[in-house]
Amino acid sequence: MLIVRSFTILLLSCIAFKLACCFSSSISSLKALPLVGHLEFEDVHHASKDFGNRYQLIPLAVLHPKSVSDIASAIRHIWMMGPHSQLTVAARGRGHSLQGQAQTRHGVVIHMESLHPQKLQVYSMDAPAPYVDVSGGELWINILHETLKYGLAPKSWTDYLHLTVGGTLSNAGISGQAFRHGPQISNVHQLEIVTGKGEILNCSKRQNSDLFDGVLGGLGQFGIITRARIALEPAPTMVKWIRVLYLDFSAFAKDQEQLISAKGHKFDYIEGFVIINRTGLLNNWRLSFTPEEPLEASQFKSDGRTLYCLELAKYLKQDNKDVINQEVKETLSELSYVSSTLFSTEVTYEAFLDRVHVSEVKLRSKGQWEVPHPWLNLLVPRSTIREFAKGVFGNILTDTSNGPVIVYPVNKSKWDNQTSAVTPEEEVFYLVAILTSAVPGKEDGGVEQILKRNRRILEFSEEAGIGLKQYLPHYTTREEWRSHFGAKWGEFVRRKSRYDPLAILAPGQRIFEKAVSYS
Ligand code: FAD
Repeated sequence: MLIVRSFTILLLSCIAFKLACCFSSSISSLKALPLVGHLEFEDVHHASKDFGNRYQLIPLAVLHPKSVSDIASAIRHIWMMGPHSQLTVAARGRGHSLQGQAQTRHGVVIHMESLHPQKLQVYSMDAPAPYVDVSGGELWINILHETLKYGLAPKSWTDYLHLTVGGTLSNAGISGQAFRHGPQISNVHQLEIVTGKGEILNCSKRQNSDLFDGVLGGLGQFGIITRARIALEPAPTMVKWIRVLYLDFSAFAKDQEQLISAKGHKFDYIEGFVIINRTGLLNNWRLSFTPEEPLEASQFKSDGRTLYCLELAKYLKQDNKDVINQEVKETLSELSYVSSTLFSTEVTYEAFLDRVHVSEVKLRSKGQWEVPHPWLNLLVPRSTIREFAKGVFGNILTDTSNGPVIVYPVNKSKWDNQTSAVTPEEEVFYLVAILTSAVPGKEDGGVEQILKRNRRILEFSEEAGIGLKQYLPHYTTREEWRSHFGAKWGEFVRRKSRYDPLAILAPGQRIFEKAVSYS
């Protein structure tokens, strides 16, 4: 017994000694790298957190790159160290991940926002196909501001714009425009990538297409996106923004599906959300939305029932306002919402796209932005969405949810199946985003309670054969990842061994682990 115990202590001491040596030699070798930017070894704690606020991995260093070659040098150096080094690399956009996806324990975090190899460049003369070249660490809000100066804007967005290009392209980038333009990954012409071997490669559908497809929706596994060429379209000046209510999920979903399939696309943006057990809802809306029929609207009572709100937007230009308003009226008359609950407003295009930031400012002022966010994002096939709604909105999510529950359909035909992004197989599927904040002091604000409810939703879906896929996925076992990727798993593994054979990149996704040799 004594011998075994002594041997174990000796072994652990040896490993600890080896690790300590490893760290100090890693630090000194990294310090010797010739960089235009710099490496930070002391103040690294900000890179160990994310929006989810539940996972924390402390990195060894944070790289603030000033050029693409800084990123390539750092990765090439770690690649050359081979399996004897523990070092891994995590690109960090704004750190809006939920479960440590942009973190690395004892590795190097790359602060992508520091990378500005060139000024954001708009190519408007190439009409009818204008585009913008941006850094992978650029925020979408900055792209909006810059492109609007040319009367242009990207076609496909996320609901919140203080996210980075590299971060959303590594997932998909979905919002209410996706039904007609596809997700953001369907609106990229070209990328510049630094692979897990430190090579800098340009890629597109014509050049290095395997890498291009792999990186889009690739969860950061095959390379760091250092530059992207993004498709633009003429930007509207104003937006007509409409909300109508339904008492019945089937009617709500039927209208959503009709609208996303409508020829000529009657709206530019289609989303929706679930309102669970809320009172005073209509009063909240009055702040910015005007009821079409004020008297009837004031008499509408939800009586604690679950409501479904269809949210639509139509882009306006100064010269087409009257015609568009007439068209909108006609399309709305074909829908079956509760007739007294038509609310609308007109806002600038910029205010419309940056709408979530308004909530961010409010929540920050109340100290409720930095709370844990046990969010659940799902892609649910059209054929099972009604059963899902019955089980989840009807039985599981019966309490007020501290945060929105977003539900809207998209067309799979607008997604490129060659990319790494995983979706259900059906032609139409829904994004269901249950965006709960764990606000201390609130009745149902406990993280554990929310996680338990999320598990119930997943278990129910599994038992009912809903056939959903997680968006912004999080799994802990290889088997779960294999099942998530389904038919795409083989391709995903092949690309990993081609572009990042040592599994240096994005370890926080927990898909592949760097095999370290201590010999
Ligand atoms: P990070 O969280 O920093 O990174 C995400 C992953 O990408 C990590 O694995 C990281 O290593 C990797 N990565 C980051 N940069 C690069 C790069 N340059 N190259 C390669 N890999 C990289 N998503 C939607 O699709 N639609 C929405 O409407 C939407 N709304 C949101 C609203 C809020 C308030 C928040 C917090 C998130 C929302 N998201 C939405 C999710 C968002 O797309 C993800 O959080 C995404 O990760 C982008 O965040 P980020 O830029 O901070 O990336």
